[in-house]
Order: sequence, then C-alpha cells, then structure tokens
Amino acid sequence: MLADILERPLRNLRLSVTDRCNLRCTYCMPEEDYIWLQRDDLLSFEEICTLVDVFVAQGVDKLRLTGGEPLLRRDLPALVSSLAARGDLREIALTTNGLRLAAEGPGLLASGLDRFTVSLDTLRPDRFKVLTRRDDLRSVLAGLRAVAHSPRLKLNTVVLRGVNEDELCDLIRFGCDIGAEVRFIEYMDVGGANRWSPEEVVGRERILELVSTELGAIEAIAPDGPAPAARYRLSDGTVFGIVASVSAPFCSSCDRSRLTADGQWFRCLYALEGTDLRGPLRAGASRAQLEALILAGWKSRADRGAEERKALARRDAALTAESGRDDPHLEMHTRGG
Ligand code: SAM
Ligand code: SF4
Ligand code: SF4
Repeated sequence: MLADILERPLRNLRLSVTDRCNLRCTYCMPEEDYIWLQRDDLLSFEEICTLVDVFVAQGVDKLRLTGGEPLLRRDLPALVSSLAARGDLREIALTTNGLRLAAEGPGLLASGLDRFTVSLDTLRPDRFKVLTRRDDLRSVLAGLRAVAHSPRLKLNTVVLRGVNEDELCDLIRFGCDIGAEVRFIEYMDVGGANRWSPEEVVGRERILELVSTELGAIEAIAPDGPAPAARYRLSDGTVFGIVASVSAPFCSSCDRSRLTADGQWFRCLYALEGTDLRGPLRAGASRAQLEALILAGWKSRADRGAEERKALARRDAALTAESGRDDPHLEMHTRGG
C-alpha cells in the first residue's frame, strides 16, 4: 500500500469542481473581489475521470466533490454518473452550501452520489445574511428538505465565538428532524480565513460544555477509523461530531489530499505548493507517467500543517488577502475545504 513519510495511506480525494461560489461566508471569502481560475484551465469531466482513475490505482477509494460551490458546476450529475459507473470507489460524497440543492439534490442521488454534507451555520435568517453576505437561508432550508433523510446526511457548522455558539443545540435538534448528523467545526486559520484570530475559535471543550448544559450527559463514541470528526452521543441516542482541527489536529492519521478544479494537487490544507497534474495530462502524459507523479508526491509527503500551526507561540491568520491574490490556489474556496 502506498504510504507517505509518516506512514499515512492515500485514501481520500477532495475534488474541487469550481472555485466560484454564490455565498461569501465571512470565515472563507471575506474579501470583495477574488482572482478566479481561468475557464480554459478547468479540467473537463473527461480529464477529471482520467485523473480519478490514476488516484484510484494508487489507493484512493473515497471521493468528495467540493469547491467553491460544487453545484455551480454545470452538468454535475453527468460527472457523478461517470464516476459512479467506474464501480471502484467506496463512496462519492458532496459538500455544498445547499443553495441549489432543491433543484439538484434528487438528480445527484439518482446519478449515484452516496451522500451529502450541507454547510449550515445558523437557522436564523438575519444571522445567515451577516455570515454569508447573502439573504437566502430559505433556499438552503428548501434544499435540505429535498434531501432530508437521505443516506448519511450531514450538516457542517463552523462555530464562531459571539456569532452562533448559542445555536448549537437548535442545530442538533434541527439535524434530528431532517435525519442529519451535525458536525461542529472549529474555525480554522486556513486559506481565505485571513481575518482569523484565536479569540474567535470555539474549541471542542467549550462546544461540549455548551451542548451538555442544555442537552445533558454526553458520551464519546470510540472512533472506527481515521475520520476527522470525533463523535458523541446524547442520552436520547442523538449523535453529533466535532472537527477539532485547531485544538486537537488529526494530522497523524490524515489520508486526504485535494485536487483543484484546474488540476493542482495539494497534499495538505495548509500546503503552499501543489503538483501540477493538468500540464502533464494535457501534454499527453501516459497513465504510467501520471501514476509516477502521484506516487512520488505521496511518498515525499510529510505535511502536518494543523499540528505545526498549533505549535506556534503566536498564531494569526495563516495568509493575508494579498497572498490569495498572488496565488488563488492558496484560497480555501479554490483548493476545496
Ligand atoms: N461551498 C461548499 C460549502 O460551503 O459547503 C463547499 C466548499 S467549503 C470551502 C467546504 C467547507 O469548508 C464548508 O463546510 C465550510 O464551512 C468549511 N470552511 C470554510 N472556511 C472555513 C474555516 N475558515 N474554518 C473552518 N471551516 C471552514
Ligand atoms: Fe461559504 Fe463554501 Fe462559499 Fe466558502 S466556498 S464562501 S464556505 S459557501
Ligand atoms: Fe491533513 Fe494537512 Fe489537515 Fe493535517 S493540516 S489534517 S495533514 S490536511
């Protein structure tokens, strides 16, 4: 089995299908303007499938489509069908802000998508408007109704101090109503989060305290693999998760890497450089040559970005707005969260 320098296998691939987004979440895209990827540089569905085949040959068995907002990519169900038809992936998932889910969700499930993760930080329209800078919580809720109770539906909630920490239990209850497990995510100092400060992070311990104060005893569930979320059970059986990337990073078991919509392969969320796969692919590289690139990239991987950030004596945002303009690949919405 292919393993990196820290003995971590290559299993999970996050595939960004666009860098565009129809929201402007303050923790991800706080700027007014961005430098966008060139349209001609975006991988076609055929190119994506070729690269996925190469990754699968090297051990990838789980794929997550992301962005930007993946539902802005035209004909996405056609890509899902092609990927699902290969039959060698254990799972094809999608992370979305949900705005277009009412229209697209059922078709994606019919095309072979295995699961949705929908980002939802608040149930209050006024807060949604401030957090995402678009006044459209209603569409997200309609989208969620369209996929409610679909297999292993998840909600992702970034918890921000003084913004939505008073809604955690409401979100858990809402998750129960629609058959979704909620995962609370610590606000990360990555990519576009250039206004990040440690004071705004609500850490795992505080999240547990807030939930138990209102909903009672919490039992930790033993992990059954290298998943980023630690999972917990309430006394009524409700399960929720916490992704503690800031306070308790999980780099030592990280088996994920990211492919941008223009074919740059990043082996860590914090990595400053990736490997260009589009160039060789379009220059006619053989499958064996592409496999060799991935093999060499993974074998030399020693990234443990979140652990290194945690060890810093003083911690501010990892990047400035200028660095994102110099190289848009550093942005979270480009490399895929
Ligand atoms: N647009 C889609 C969405 O929002 O679900 C997919 C892409 S988005 C970059 C993927 C995930 O990254 C979302 O769940 C989002 O909340 C999360 N995210 C973005 N910026 C973050 C940050 N600074 N800290 C923690 N999570 C973040
Ligand atoms: Fe928000 Fe996702 Fe868009 Fe980032 S990519 S601004 S998290 S919806
Ligand atoms: Fe993996 Fe990098 Fe995130 Fe650590 S910081 S969990 S190595 S992607």
